[in-house]
Amino acid sequence: MYSILTLKFPPIRTKHRRKLRFFANNLLKPRRCHCSNVLAAPSLWFYCATLSAKRRNANQKTDTMKTPMTAASHQAMSDTLSVPITGDAVFTHETYAALLKRALDQYTFCDYTSLDRSGRFVIWRHDVDMSMHAAVALARIEAAMGVQATYFLLPGCEYYNLFEPAIVACMHEIRELGHHFGLHFQCTPDMSATPAAFEAALTAQRQLLETYCERPINVFSYHNPSASALAHDAFTHAGMVNTYARYFRENVTYCSDSNGIWRHRSLADTLAANPERLQVLTHPEWWQTQALSPRERAFRCIDGRARAGLANYNVMLMESERMNICDLGPDFDRLTKFLGEDALRIQMLWLAGEHVLAFLGLWRISASRGITPAACRAVADDTLRGSPVSREQLFAPMQQLTAALVGAA
Ligand SMILES: [Zn+2]
Repeated sequence: MYSILTLKFPPIRTKHRRKLRFFANNLLKPRRCHCSNVLAAPSLWFYCATLSAKRRNANQKTDTMKTPMTAASHQAMSDTLSVPITGDAVFTHETYAALLKRALDQYTFCDYTSLDRSGRFVIWRHDVDMSMHAAVALARIEAAMGVQATYFLLPGCEYYNLFEPAIVACMHEIRELGHHFGLHFQCTPDMSATPAAFEAALTAQRQLLETYCERPINVFSYHNPSASALAHDAFTHAGMVNTYARYFRENVTYCSDSNGIWRHRSLADTLAANPERLQVLTHPEWWQTQALSPRERAFRCIDGRARAGLANYNVMLMESERMNICDLGPDFDRLTKFLGEDALRIQMLWLAGEHVLAFLGLWRISASRGITPAACRAVADDTLRGSPVSREQLFAPMQQLTAALVGAA
């Protein structure tokens, strides 16, 4: 950690300077909205992540603690599309409730164990890939509308930990709202290599999840299924209904919001077509209060978890009456009383090694309040010009700005 905090910035290239100036002039501008106003634009964080990743690569030879991004990761960062968020691209809770209402008007809802295979039905399923908190939000909407859905939980998920107290609480709430659980199964090549290995892996994960949920687990779905996994296409495996069984693929219309978009036909269009049998898969992380791009929605989930982690760390030290040492000092913590989320965001930027952006964020807030200490102006000008400015050069100005803001409050 120490080596990360003392890492010096590499020279900022011209294209980065332009972006920094853009962020400084636009995204870091204080707004009147009540929360997250300084860094409300997630694109800033992705830009930071890209910069950090590039720095990690640049410093790979001298710092083996840092994991470089792969070429594929870099390519993925740049393979983006700009699509207007309107119509079927709007994935809000409001839209979700409206679509659910339409489905309720048209179909009898059933779960995987109670369906009449030749009858007319809709099955409502969620693969929880990124956020149990987002799952709770959908579970509440559904319960209010009298719908029971099936939530597929992913042991070994990279974005949530089933055994974390906050996630256990989410599971309890979903369960108490009357919904069902299924196993979201990440099938490795070893697991799908033979029928015996496949059944054994499913059985082991089923037992784990049944213990965790205190409910029988009667159905599974694949997480990012490979062709070898999909080859296991019987209606049941290891005593669980297979949501990717040949029966479903050949007899039931499928509609999914994978990757935060309707990749094939939208749910609205699918409901308009009114197929006899329908399986709807939604991923809770894609449904949020605001209309956002998929990357922004993914970011909100990841960022929420990161912020909760930092808050837990601070609370843990406070409750155990241990020192919480931070180079920005106690004055900066006091700023949270006046700046709230803005102070937290700036602190996170600083802790993440994005010292220039942290400084610019604080500078803009100070300037908007008429606080521009003379000792900081030269650094601010250098920073806005895109001149290389190190953490060490920004450290004193950060403290001066913080002290001035606390003093003026
Ligand atoms: Zn999945």
